[in-house]
Amino acid sequence: MADHDVDLFVIGAGSGGVRAARIASSYGARVMVAEEFRVGGTCVIRGCVPKKLLVYASRFSAEFEDAAGYGWAVPEPVFHWPTLIANKDREIARLEAAYIATLERNKVKWVRARAVLEDAHTVRLSTGAQVRAETILIATGGWPHMGPNIPGVEHAISSNEAFHLTDFPSRIVIQGGGYIAVEFACIFAGLGVHVDMVIRQQFPLRGFDEDIREALAEALAADGITIHRGTTVASVEANGAARRVHLVNGTMIETGLVFSALGRQAYTQGLGLEAAGVDTDGFGAIEVDGENRTSQANIYAIGDVTDRLNLTPVAIAEGHSLADRLFGPGPRRWDLDRVATAVFSTPPIGTVGLTEAEAARQGPVDVYVSRFTPMRHTLSGRARKTLMKLVVDQASQRVVGAHMLGEDAAEILQGLSIAINAGATKADFDRTVGIHPTAAEEFVTMRTRTRVAGVPEVKAAE
Ligand SMILES: Cc1cc2nc3c(=O)[nH]c(=O)nc-3n(C[C@H](O)[C@H](O)[C@H](O)COP(=O)(O)OP(=O)(O)OC[C@H]3O[C@@H](n4cnc5c(N)ncnc54)[C@H](O)[C@@H]3O)c2cc1C
Repeated sequence: MADHDVDLFVIGAGSGGVRAARIASSYGARVMVAEEFRVGGTCVIRGCVPKKLLVYASRFSAEFEDAAGYGWAVPEPVFHWPTLIANKDREIARLEAAYIATLERNKVKWVRARAVLEDAHTVRLSTGAQVRAETILIATGGWPHMGPNIPGVEHAISSNEAFHLTDFPSRIVIQGGGYIAVEFACIFAGLGVHVDMVIRQQFPLRGFDEDIREALAEALAADGITIHRGTTVASVEANGAARRVHLVNGTMIETGLVFSALGRQAYTQGLGLEAAGVDTDGFGAIEVDGENRTSQANIYAIGDVTDRLNLTPVAIAEGHSLADRLFGPGPRRWDLDRVATAVFSTPPIGTVGLTEAEAARQGPVDVYVSRFTPMRHTLSGRARKTLMKLVVDQASQRVVGAHMLGEDAAEILQGLSIAINAGATKADFDRTVGIHPTAAEEFVTMRTRTRVAGVPEVKAAE
């Protein structure tokens, strides 16, 4: 259209925005992207990627210890945080450059600026420029939520700052029990920091399978992490670099750093949504229909800003699908019902499908649980167990959930999620020949049912 500068304007060059922009452009659309911070977004700059690098770093301490059981004598290892952060930053810069190159190769115009909506077709950039767009895609992601406004909350950091600490602490308090809290607890513990986790519930990872949650809490404790259960942080005092944390249950912790990991919220503040007629829920997340369309017909939203399934592959799938639908051959089909996810704790967790409790609410289920010492730790002597679990719908015998806590859980569950999304039954699992000797083979050799759950109540005769 003549009065439009571009066919598609994308706000935010994160996982979803970059994918949507480059696919739309490859179909011939005129596309422009604005990014206020760094191209690549949360995942690449201060999320999945740098986190996984820190996870790798944190696991060496146990490797050095475990080597002794295999005959190695390792001199006292010394860890140097500035080296890790400098190397991590170099890799992140390389990835950002690769993302920029991809945009440019695909003829996407990009600008480093904050974008704000002025109306349903007009975007104002922090450079002062105004751009008219036929279609607008909001892909601004999420932002750490620091929780209630308790005294001293300003002395706590979020995951954003954790990747660039100048002073490496010897003790840290992590507030929250979600996956980011758990992952950073394991990272810091592995790097030799004393970690106190403060969680509102009895076990971390609300919403995950209960057996996994319980086994994780045991594993964290075995690695020296102190879990303060059923409580929250009441206040934080700062005295120079030292922090004093008061918990609601009366406990006081002297620490060097307070890390708030209480969740994330959609990043929509000051975005001009009202001016553009885009509705949000009560928490600032943009409401969309099944095709990612907002309440304004020409404006779409994908990824974390819609606060549904806040994962990189989901944002990418939505961005790709939207570009296909608007400018290409039509929507691509993705299964977003049973998306496998991982928690990169130590040991890691992989999960796909329903938890036992969720499945049991739908009807009777057969539950198979196996807990064992992985072969590697027979010689290392490390007290670390693997837990594997299958949840099977009794009527159809379809495997509706698979959960694992143990080495390589994320890698194993990715493969298993294909079988589960394809509708595999327990009999399909049983007739699959395992790979030996692996932990993964346990998923195809679990023959004895552990229990039945979700049995409907037997009604008394009237
Ligand atoms: C610590 C951490 C670890 C994580 N680990 C994992 C993991 O292991 N696996 C996984 O799948 N997911 C993980 N995630 C989640 C993952 O990062 C997000 O789901 C994903 O990045 C969402 O992509 P997105 O495109 O929706 O938004 P983002 O990647 O957040 O991108 C949004 C971009 O928009 C920019 N922006 C915002 N507002 C404006 C504006 N007004 N103008 C211009 N630019 C703007 C932002 O600067 C940002 O670059 C993690 C997240 C965190 C915080």
